[in-house]
Amino acid sequence: MPYPVFDNHVHLQENGENVLAAKRFEKEGGRIINLCNIPGIYKPVDLKYFMDQYERIVRIADLVRKETSLNVLVTVGPYPVDLIKSSEIIGLENAKELFLDAIELAITYVQDGKANAVGEIGRPHFQVDENIWIVSNEILSYALKRAGKEKIPVVLHTESADEKVFNELSIMAEKSGIDKNFVIKHFSPPLILEEENHGIFPSVISSRDNIREAINKGFRFFMETDFLDDPMKKGAVMDITTVPKRFKMLENENKELLEKYSYELKENLFKIYRLELKDF
Ligand SMILES: [Zn+2]
Repeated sequence: MPYPVFDNHVHLQENGENVLAAKRFEKEGGRIINLCNIPGIYKPVDLKYFMDQYERIVRIADLVRKETSLNVLVTVGPYPVDLIKSSEIIGLENAKELFLDAIELAITYVQDGKANAVGEIGRPHFQVDENIWIVSNEILSYALKRAGKEKIPVVLHTESADEKVFNELSIMAEKSGIDKNFVIKHFSPPLILEEENHGIFPSVISSRDNIREAINKGFRFFMETDFLDDPMKKGAVMDITTVPKRFKMLENENKELLEKYSYELKENLFKIYRLELKDF
């Protein structure tokens, strides 16, 4: 397909399908993939826990680059739900310090060219203890401020976003001084209009209905699957071939819209991730 077919949120695991899943994505027409680290199975007590995760996804990205022609982006950061696990062992204050260090570590990965964005970071997607919520927001504000200063994009994991949540995130982003184009909301509904997302950049979960709705409103959005590559959860989440299939669907339904979307997608990939695509 002559389009920059991009999945903005994919997890690959060494004990999962790993590079074979990337090959399936490519075979279906996929061209660009953003690989996000996956939380470990242990409770985080030190920075090594995060460094191991970041290193693992960097290794997987290198393997995918070697064995496919995909453009591979990498996103590293401390998974928000891990704050709960961490606080159970080392206490909330220490867990907060650890998370701030993990954010700093993620920033150095981007600065060293090993990663392209910090994420998925944010706050748990379910109701939590009030103190966890407060500290999660403090960590998020810190990350937005630091990423803003270093001009690094951030991928957010939060509760499901409606206009109210988008507004709140937008206010946080404004206070921290980060360009809101650099604040990408993972697992977003098709709220792609400025008045719906208040300038936060939506990464839309790629059901057929979501994608049709989004593209009929505009072009400022990414598509994603949140493919988990978890052998235990096969079929529970969207398959890695979904985004290429949506491009094919749009090509059949409205080629003109897809071409406009692709043009803007290419611009956004450059503006946000600094990815320069030559062959589109
Ligand atoms: Zn994810």
